[in-house]
Amino acid sequence: MYRRLCILLFASSASLAQETSTIQYLANEGVMVTHGDTKVPFDPLYQNGFNNYQMVPNEVREAMFAGTAPFDGVDAVFVSHYHGDHFSAEDILRLLRSQIDTKLYAPAQAVREIRQVAGPDDESIFDRVIGLDLDYGDAPVGIDRGALTIDAVHIPHSGWPTARTDVQNIAFRVTLENNSTVLHLGDADARIVHFATDAEYWEERTIDVAFPPYWFLGSDDGIEILENRMSVGHSIGIHVPANFSDPANIPGEFSGVDLFTKPGEGRRFAGKQ
Ligand SMILES: [Zn+2]
Repeated sequence: MYRRLCILLFASSASLAQETSTIQYLANEGVMVTHGDTKVPFDPLYQNGFNNYQMVPNEVREAMFAGTAPFDGVDAVFVSHYHGDHFSAEDILRLLRSQIDTKLYAPAQAVREIRQVAGPDDESIFDRVIGLDLDYGDAPVGIDRGALTIDAVHIPHSGWPTARTDVQNIAFRVTLENNSTVLHLGDADARIVHFATDAEYWEERTIDVAFPPYWFLGSDDGIEILENRMSVGHSIGIHVPANFSDPANIPGEFSGVDLFTKPGEGRRFAGKQ
């Protein structure tokens, strides 16, 4: 079962296949993907590293709030879940106040937190907020909006089935300008069972680059999911502990695995759509 909400049937027609897309690593699970004029950061603003994860550099945060390059004209921000190392209600509200053309796609759980810190003058901001109230087992949701084709599904947070089962963790599969497709898994639990029920959904679109939490890449199930349950061109592990920025601290099981370990690093790729 797969539901697609056609909000606006308009896609940029100017882009050619094989055009280059870029990825900028912000920190922890924060990445910004750019294709042409289309820019989408995932989990970019948070205030807590729990003494284990790197923080987004202050000048990068300030550039986001100010909308200065390369964070000018950000189309949409995606939030995987409301935990403090992925999301700050205050930061996201500040961003939406200053960047009046930016939309937000986030779990309803995170949107509720933004409502708690918003004031009466912020009501119009919520016109640009798309809250996804998805639970485990719900059918994936598709949204076509301008240059973005967005698919969202709830995948349980790591710790399932005994811990953190109350967290709405959303895996976003986003295609930019009908060309480049990325998948951000948030803090998804790496078990095949979560990906088996919607097999058709996972096979229907080629993913150029996936951003799994790094524990996927050290798990047999995680690798099976990325390699065989979906069509992924390349995976880059995110959410690594801060000490991975020194390669000597990266456990041997991740040798040869592509990981983002240093804020500011980046990659380029060519979309295959
Ligand atoms: Zn989390």
